[in-house]
Amino acid sequence: MMDYTAKLTRPCVRVLEAYQVVPPNYKIILNANENPYDFPDALKKAFCERMMATTFNRYPDPTAAAVREELAAYTGVAADQIVVGCGSDEIMAMLGQTFIAPGDVVIGHAPSFSMYEIWSVIAGGRFLWVPDNAAYHHNVEGIINTAKENNAKLIYLCSPNNPTGGLFPRHDVIQILEETDALVVLDEAYIEFKSPEDSLARLVDSYGNLLVMRTLSKAFGLAGVRCGYCLGPKPLIDMISKVKSPYNLNKLTQEAALIGLQNRDRLLARVKTLNAERHRVYRALLAFDLGRVFPTAANFIYFETPRGAAIEKAMRARSILVKTFGATGGGLTPFRLTIGAPEENDAVLDAIAEALQ
Ligand code: PMP
Repeated sequence: MMDYTAKLTRPCVRVLEAYQVVPPNYKIILNANENPYDFPDALKKAFCERMMATTFNRYPDPTAAAVREELAAYTGVAADQIVVGCGSDEIMAMLGQTFIAPGDVVIGHAPSFSMYEIWSVIAGGRFLWVPDNAAYHHNVEGIINTAKENNAKLIYLCSPNNPTGGLFPRHDVIQILEETDALVVLDEAYIEFKSPEDSLARLVDSYGNLLVMRTLSKAFGLAGVRCGYCLGPKPLIDMISKVKSPYNLNKLTQEAALIGLQNRDRLLARVKTLNAERHRVYRALLAFDLGRVFPTAANFIYFETPRGAAIEKAMRARSILVKTFGATGGGLTPFRLTIGAPEENDAVLDAIAEALQ
């Protein structure tokens, strides 16, 4: 059969690597910053009851009004300043479709979440990464200068940052907003692990060029439900809503998201447990003296070590999946370790202890 891909596929798509799926056969999955705690049974039951009362032959509410009302109550940003997506992944795709024209420059700070580049490139944009310094502090001047020199259309900032766990202080975000005329997209996927009160979402009422992206996948533990959202000035949200596919949030997602948001106190109480575990694991990693361990405000810990091969081997032997990245310039192996349930974290610490013997 003739291969039409070269003839038919847009060049910017042809050069992309396919998204990696998680190998399913690990016992302890700590590679994707998921929440180890499932939706409580009582809430699953409430969901099933609502599903029984729902028509599957009729389309869902295209505006997801009930979900947006709950998000407004949660975030303090008005419902008509919120657009929802099938995960924040779909929000990024919509940002590409709404704002990025072929050749437009999009900026991120490195290292950060790879999907910013992928969605921007699919939209036809040109992505430039501005490296953090050696301690993974963001190079604010570098971001601003690169934006100005390239007339950047959009800047992605991630706080807490995936994978390093560091924060973008409020004054840095404001400096970037004020000194560039790019659209600044602040990704707060992990903000609840810092504290919901530390979100900069309310700044969208003061800056016409700010969008804040959030998700129910992490602190709410609803990664399988697929609900992300974007908060912003109403004129920008209205533009994004034009490209949104009409029924992007199906009825199952809308109902599960609604139940999650209505029970947010109960779900977010688990963040306290995870943060206590984060502290315990962080202290243990420091005590191991295994290399560079970075402070984190998220539900994962980033570290770089010369003992990467031994640690990977010990993790594999215990069927633990963690995220690793290519070696640093100094030959260290970077790891991003998601905080799991206490017994999962114990298994990780045992594996590392064994590897370092
Ligand atoms: N932003 C960041 C920084 C992430 O790490 C992730 C998930 N890994 C996402 C966004 C996407 O989350 P989701 O599509 O599940 O909402």
